[in-house]
Amino acid sequence: MHETHDPMTGVLRREVLRRKLEEMFARSSEEDSLISLAFLDLDNFKAFNDEQGHEMGDELIKTFASILEKNCRSQDLLGRYGGEEFLVVMPDTQPEDALLLMEDVRRQVSSSTFTLRCGDREMRHSFTFSGGIAAFPRDGQEPSEVVRAADSALYNAKMYGRDRLLLAVKSKMVLKSSYYPGPQLQKLADLAAKTQKSEAFLLREALDDLLARYSERRVSPENL
Ligand code: GH3
Ligand code: MG
Ligand code: MG
Repeated sequence: MHETHDPMTGVLRREVLRRKLEEMFARSSEEDSLISLAFLDLDNFKAFNDEQGHEMGDELIKTFASILEKNCRSQDLLGRYGGEEFLVVMPDTQPEDALLLMEDVRRQVSSSTFTLRCGDREMRHSFTFSGGIAAFPRDGQEPSEVVRAADSALYNAKMYGRDRLLLAVKSKMVLKSSYYPGPQLQKLADLAAKTQKSEAFLLREALDDLLARYSERRVSPENL
């Protein structure tokens, strides 16, 4: 139990989940089936930790893990990916169905108040989480690629204001519907392969650089 499961929450450890994902992807590829992944992260958790202390923070993480565990189906896998980040693996599930399943949990959490106990302290607390959903083979061939796509969608969910779930955007679709010149797209594809980052991720990075550049120097009508 201790080798495969995270001692704090009792769900699968990241390394174990990664190994299981490799096996599941290989099987799924042979059987021509699909797997959806949901990457979930507590909203504004750092502030809660800072205000209430790390131990109470741990209690919140445990509460979140047990809610996820209760809502996972028998065929699903649940793992702790990082501090307050969890991954739900849903075999034979379309990403749209995975979104609906997780949306139920999100709504349930967002509209509830929980009791957290730590030593002789007890508090009532409401919280939210955000998530990104991606699927094999739609969003990638390798587990790392699909996790990255789900993480990108999570990033977007945070940007859009948190307490929401988003499906990964297929990067090829975005590129086709946009108007980048061919040579630029080729260079982007080469860079994505070289850096092991998705094209969507690199484009967001470029957009962040652009926004930072323009917010540094005040945009006046002359240099617009
Ligand atoms: P966001 O809504 O953007 O996710 O904001 P956030 O404040 O939740 O930001 P982030 O996800 O980066 O915060 C993670 C925090 O979780 C930072 C770290 O101090 C804390 N953390 C990581 N692991 C643990 C843990 O095991 N226990 C506790 N109590 N805190 C942890
Ligand atoms: Mg986090
Ligand atoms: Mg967080």
